[in-house]
Amino acid sequence: MGHNESELSKLRLAVPYYFEQWPRKRWETDAKLMAEAGITLVRMAEFAWSVLEPSRGKYDFSRLDEAMRLFASHNIATILCTPSAAYPPWLHAKHPDIHQVRSNGLLKEYGMRQDACKNHPGYRRAVMKLVRMMATRYGRDERVKAWQIDNELGCHGTARCFCPRCESAFRAWLAGRFEHNINRLNSAWGTAFWSQEYRAFQEVSVPREPADRMGKQGQNPGLLLDFARFSSETNIRFLAEQASIIRKASPRAVITHNLMKGHFDIDYFCLAQELDVVSWDNYPFFELQGEERAPSAFPHAFMRGLKQRNVWVMEQAAGPGGWDYMQPTPEPGRMRVWYFQALARGADLVCFFRWRTARFGIEQYWHGILPHSGIPGSRYGELRQIGTEMRALAAELKETTPEARAAILFDHDSHWSLEFQPQAKEALGVPSLAGCAAQVLSGRGVDFDCIAPNADVSRYALVMAPSLHICSREVAQKLERFVADGGLLVLGPLSGMKDSKNAVVEEPFPGFLSRLAGCTVEEADVFSFVPGCTMRVKLLTGAAVPAQAVAEILAPLTGTLALATYCGRYYSGKAAVTLNHFGKGACLYLGTVFDAAGLSEILLSVLSDRGLGGRALPAAVEVAARTSPSGTSFRFYLNHGSQTLRIDALAPGLELLTGRNITGAITLDALGVAVVKER
Ligand SMILES: [Zn+2]
Repeated sequence: MGHNESELSKLRLAVPYYFEQWPRKRWETDAKLMAEAGITLVRMAEFAWSVLEPSRGKYDFSRLDEAMRLFASHNIATILCTPSAAYPPWLHAKHPDIHQVRSNGLLKEYGMRQDACKNHPGYRRAVMKLVRMMATRYGRDERVKAWQIDNELGCHGTARCFCPRCESAFRAWLAGRFEHNINRLNSAWGTAFWSQEYRAFQEVSVPREPADRMGKQGQNPGLLLDFARFSSETNIRFLAEQASIIRKASPRAVITHNLMKGHFDIDYFCLAQELDVVSWDNYPFFELQGEERAPSAFPHAFMRGLKQRNVWVMEQAAGPGGWDYMQPTPEPGRMRVWYFQALARGADLVCFFRWRTARFGIEQYWHGILPHSGIPGSRYGELRQIGTEMRALAAELKETTPEARAAILFDHDSHWSLEFQPQAKEALGVPSLAGCAAQVLSGRGVDFDCIAPNADVSRYALVMAPSLHICSREVAQKLERFVADGGLLVLGPLSGMKDSKNAVVEEPFPGFLSRLAGCTVEEADVFSFVPGCTMRVKLLTGAAVPAQAVAEILAPLTGTLALATYCGRYYSGKAAVTLNHFGKGACLYLGTVFDAAGLSEILLSVLSDRGLGGRALPAAVEVAARTSPSGTSFRFYLNHGSQTLRIDALAPGLELLTGRNITGAITLDALGVAVVKER
């Protein structure tokens, strides 16, 4: 067992190649162009089911074999994909009920991807048989460097299926969870509410949305959370079954799956346990919409945090994307600075999506390295430059990884709970609160990890928990130890309100976290619904910053300091933010939602006192580091803007792309990059 670790962490460039979409006579030209640009891997067969199994049980690997052989002759190896995300019409004809059912009860239609029911036995059988054929054929093939299972599980809102098969699987799952004792379920969900006490697991339905509920769900919160967990597990089990088939044929196989930024229907922390390396798809243009600033560092930290090791970017924007509407075209140089962001934040392999822009299919306007014509243009030139620079850095960056003293906790249960019952109109989701925390840290050049609540926090100096809406006694105790030992903890609003069953706790809020927070919540006011209400909170410095969505009126316990107070409504003057010294450390509780500027202002002195404050960076500038096992830091300075900028280097050193010695300031051209090996 065990694969070659250094193989896993090599800096490499890749592209997907849809050999089935291009004439055979073109393949050679593409392979040559790729090799010249420094591409050493192609991802193939991702959507090639109808090529590999043109009719039921008739397998034909000849074209894939030929493509693999041809690329190998140009020293380009293969990331082989299992093509389960999109299935051929013959399978649909055989199983007309293969599709998922939407939450409103309607059956989906053929033509999209990811919309087969993962619990459909016919679909599952066909997938696993094809995977077995592929694993047997290619499991020991030296040209296959890694396996990608499926593609973007759960994309287009497909993580949850409401069909009868999933309903019976859900009942069986619940029976296992509640030890075949329906009374345990009744007590966990509190089904005495609205006379919902079940006598048998067979009586439980999946939480559909009948039309007469006007799209509002209205179901029991315990049911909703357990259905989210069950659906997440369904996807993970589907992936795990494929992984075990591949591992059986190929014990040293490197297995990955391309995860999605901003998709939280599947608990990626659990999914990542099935993978050797996490990879993900990174399209910053969706977030930026043409803005000249650094794309959020949060998804990079989130993906790296799943296994707490470096990642692969399996799809990295190589041009404008879009199905119906196109995103703004990244100007020359932006693809390169986005590449360096991924590298700085812990990506080793980067695969640019796609190689050549498709002539057919809904992704006709999802642009690749080559345009529709196949004639190399500016993006190909930029790829060659990236390839040259990557090769120059490869030896230096070997075994380096981002090392952070700060972490953001991301809890899927809390996310799901707030997704079902957000309580306020805006800004209260765990992803947006976590994104804001990330913006504060990266805006000051502070490196951070993103971790699950059950992860070890002892190595960090700062932990930000944007919302532990669901918080167990165990997690609260772990955080108490972290703070008692000298850590700084920042808790966000609506924390500690619920237990793992999505029931509200009996203790005053923030529940098990009250002792650590040094305060309780007297009452909460969702002022976002109050016409004309513009809430602000006043800091000890006298400055006022805007607050959003919800105000938790905090009652500090003895010894707890009110760091900020509300300036509006009937609770004007009451505490909005508290600071409690606890053991050798401290805990800040935020009773409301701030934007990044406001949060930065509130946290600044507390962070600076502990040497965690960093320094404010211009919006277009990003600074992040990778560190070697022996402690050498490689600091990346990235200019995401179109103006030349001059900024102070954090430490002197050698700039690796130009060979210049850096002593004081660094000049960064528009979309400029500097990589400083610090002395
Ligand atoms: Zn289903």
